[in-house]
Amino acid sequence: MSIPGLPPPIKRLGQNFLIDPNIVRKIVALAELGPGDHVLEIGPGRGILAEALSQVAGHVTAIELDPRLHAYLKTRQAELPNVELVCADALAYPVEQLPAGTIVVANLPYYISTPLLFRLLDQRGRFPRMVLMLQSEVADRLVAKPGGSDYGVLSVMAQYAADITKSFRVSAQCFRPRPEVASAVVLLRAKEDGRLSQEAEVAFRALVKAAFAHRRKTLINSLRDEGYELSRITEALQRLEIIPTRRAETLSVEDFLRLASAFG
Ligand code: SAM
Repeated sequence: MSIPGLPPPIKRLGQNFLIDPNIVRKIVALAELGPGDHVLEIGPGRGILAEALSQVAGHVTAIELDPRLHAYLKTRQAELPNVELVCADALAYPVEQLPAGTIVVANLPYYISTPLLFRLLDQRGRFPRMVLMLQSEVADRLVAKPGGSDYGVLSVMAQYAADITKSFRVSAQCFRPRPEVASAVVLLRAKEDGRLSQEAEVAFRALVKAAFAHRRKTLINSLRDEGYELSRITEALQRLEIIPTRRAETLSVEDFLRLASAFG
């Protein structure tokens, strides 16, 4: 059903709008915002979250890809005086130009939630806290511990960068139109930078990806298949006393860090 004045939702842009003010309140409370805070919202949509954020934060940068929704929000600019409405693709927007200390609060478009997460985590020195609505399945992968099928590249890289809590689940009934997948809100607190140099972090990420590239294979075979030299792998695993027949999903984030530095 369309609402007069509002453009109808476009499914491929992940347009599932929150309609439950209680969930909006819970999201905003989790972000612990004050009048001195700068907030980044990705995908303000029809503005339900942007409006609540504008009431507690000092400034909100709200990036919306859909020009129809951007134009609609512009008509409400008087109600949102401290919200800077930007019409852009959040994946291309220069988030590195936002002030350090910016808090990210968003009900993300699910079709690009993983690349957006990586982009935000890459800039974690700038974003101390992020409160994000995601597919519940992605939230599970973010907090997964070694040993299970949810644990993978996203878990290792996100847990290396942040302390993550799956805060609460959100029923499909809280959106219009209703999403086909379950949703959850996660809180990410960025860890201090500096455990790895930029160059070492690139090598760490490449190693984690290679280790998980063939999930069913042993660590040694997966790494070899991804171009790592067998003698170097064997030597590094031996030095770290990691049994070579283990699979990537059994290694902790610390194990991967030790392995990356043994290769370095
Ligand atoms: N914040 C609103 C709410 O909670 O009701 C809308 C959330 S809806 C799940 C996701 C929003 O992200 C939509 O408004 C969609 O148009 C927008 N969007 C989709 N792709 C985007 C992109 N690449 N950059 C910025 N916004 C995007």
